[in-house]
Amino acid sequence: LVCCGTGCLANGAQAVVDAFSAAISGDGSISVKPAVKKTGCNGFCENGPIVTIYPDNITYYKVRPADVSEIIKSLDGAPVERLLYRDDSGNAVCSREENPFYAAQYKIALRNTGRIDPSSIQDYLDRGGYKGLEAALSMSPEEVIEQIETSGLRGRGGAGFPTGRKWRSCREVPSDIKYMLCNGDEGDPGAFMDRSILEGDPHSVLEGLIIGAYAIGARYGYFYIRDEYGLALSHMEEAIASARHSGFLGKNILGSDFHFDCEIVRGGGAFVCGESSALMSSIEGKPGEPRVKYTRSVEKGLFDQPTVLNNVETLANVPYILVHGGASFAKLGTEGSKGTKVFSLVGKVNRTGLVEVPMGATLRHLIFDIGGGIRDGGKFKGIQTGGPSGGCIPEELLDLEIDFDTLKANGSMMGSGGMIVMDETTCMVELSRYYLSFLAGESCGKCTPCREGLRCMLDILTRITEGHASMKDLDLLEDLAYTAKEASLCELGRTAANPVISTLTWFRDEYEAHIREHR
Ligand code: SF4
Repeated sequence: LVCCGTGCLANGAQAVVDAFSAAISGDGSISVKPAVKKTGCNGFCENGPIVTIYPDNITYYKVRPADVSEIIKSLDGAPVERLLYRDDSGNAVCSREENPFYAAQYKIALRNTGRIDPSSIQDYLDRGGYKGLEAALSMSPEEVIEQIETSGLRGRGGAGFPTGRKWRSCREVPSDIKYMLCNGDEGDPGAFMDRSILEGDPHSVLEGLIIGAYAIGARYGYFYIRDEYGLALSHMEEAIASARHSGFLGKNILGSDFHFDCEIVRGGGAFVCGESSALMSSIEGKPGEPRVKYTRSVEKGLFDQPTVLNNVETLANVPYILVHGGASFAKLGTEGSKGTKVFSLVGKVNRTGLVEVPMGATLRHLIFDIGGGIRDGGKFKGIQTGGPSGGCIPEELLDLEIDFDTLKANGSMMGSGGMIVMDETTCMVELSRYYLSFLAGESCGKCTPCREGLRCMLDILTRITEGHASMKDLDLLEDLAYTAKEASLCELGRTAANPVISTLTWFRDEYEAHIREHR
């Protein structure tokens, strides 16, 4: 298997695939020709291209076309040691299961990525694909919703709203027309969970969407996928076509009286299009701007019809829950947050990439056991969770068990799962200025607290970093931050000040030092 996720492709994976194909077909000494398969993302992108040999279960990293003949010669003998991963003690490890980056992970949403060819529906079926849909169609829609409620699944896109409750609310609204939507408009800097799932296992998300549609009574759905995600878009297009061809989409799905079909809409190119009402406006062909929500979208959403919007990772969990049962999913995680969560662990950490762990894992476990600690022997200073709208967690909270509620209680949030690790060289004022400049640039301008508030906050932060600010500016900064949080129309403005508020809480001395230094 050659990893051909976007990261590995950027590292030259296609040339490795070509070298394997040419070497295997041209080598007359090989009696049983191995198949060369392109998979989706393995999550350990900085070490790509990644190649796994089966049935030996040997994984090689940073493979170049020039390494291919040596790998093929080694097939009946010892592995090529120089291409194996070295653990923290310097020992070469053969399988992914022994690799410290993968060893402590528990994969549900990422169960197939890196293991199957995403363009092959047969690969998906061989791994139990569409068994969740079969199970769902053998139940009533209410029973499907009960399973999702029992599982405790909460929306992985950021808000953490209980998925079963959302589905039930929509089911209970009487209407002949309903819509089931998937939000694939991932735009946080540093986050690539949804992209990897869409690229590497599109059928799992599609199957989740079909099950959701059956549960709420929808006959049509949309994938809203970020336009920059070219590979995700093409793999989902292929998945929809092959699912339709195989009877999992369209009329009388799997011989039942359930009809459902869907299409892809390419994202409008703005971060705010990931907000639910802006996303629906964008699908309707209008500008992707949030609107005031007098009514819930489960009652009046897309085209003013009852609508459920779920995130990519949420939907990828759904088939697993239908196959294994809601109670089995609920055994994992914490009291209020069940199952697993995928994080993109990046920044000043030794091992970066996609990590899936049960809810309740500690930040220390993620950063030090899986991430291998701080790069270049540095000292941990803080971690930004929840993307640019999340908050910064300091060293004192390294043993925090991560779930939706603990992060919120400590001034941050789960968001979609982006995690950026900082060491002692990171300036926390610069950090909040960076996030705020991103969000101020993405503000759609519709409401004053966000449009004007973020710009004023950015001015103050710039003055602080350039040495033109006074201590009074800190009070004004805080005042503006809480006003934007309270009074903005949508989540972009309501959460934009989180990095400022959290760094002012934990690292206020750095702000004051900047101001004092330049007096
Ligand atoms: Fe637009 Fe910001 Fe207001 Fe949201 S909070 S509607 S992004 S101006």
